[in-house]
Amino acid sequence: MYIPDGSTQDYDKGGPANRYSWGWLGDKVPIEKTGWKDSGLKSRVVSLLHAKKNDYIVMHHMGSHDCEVCGKSKPKKQYQGNGSFLITHAGLEFRCPAGVIHYIEEHDYNPGYQVIEALFEGRWKTGKQEDEELEECMERWHEERRLEAEEKERNMTPMERKRRDFGNAAQAAGRKKLAQLRKDGALVK
Ligand SMILES: [Zn+2]
Repeated sequence: MYIPDGSTQDYDKGGPANRYSWGWLGDKVPIEKTGWKDSGLKSRVVSLLHAKKNDYIVMHHMGSHDCEVCGKSKPKKQYQGNGSFLITHAGLEFRCPAGVIHYIEEHDYNPGYQVIEALFEGRWKTGKQEDEELEECMERWHEERRLEAEEKERNMTPMERKRRDFGNAAQAAGRKKLAQLRKDGALVK
């Protein structure tokens, strides 16, 4: 997957307007993004990314990816985990694939000053934070469904209520009957 560095385009649609995508290189590293004048800086960046990859990878659901650059020359060579790093800095939300470490180490990719500054000074989102947000989101969703059900209940006419109660009772009776048949060995399962 290729997205130009600095684009607001997201890997999956619907990213925020302040998205800054980087490291979605596809099958080649752009020549102007190749090479580090300061190899010490490069190794500091690589170390930082390695240190972050346990607790700071988010969006694991994206599935795992192989390196398309390696894929062109050495079809069997694979690398990479999955997911993204998400870093907030200077009003922007920087997102890159977790496999960007490989692009830097193996293909000498240099994302540029703006990203490097974000790496060192930005706020990294943790996987735990993401889990908590998801959980909150699910809770909100359940609460909304519960309120909807309550609302529906309040708006039911007596006839509808009767019909519903009758339906529930019939279902319960059916379940009871099935359970009894199973117990008696009349049903295989
Ligand atoms: Zn590669």
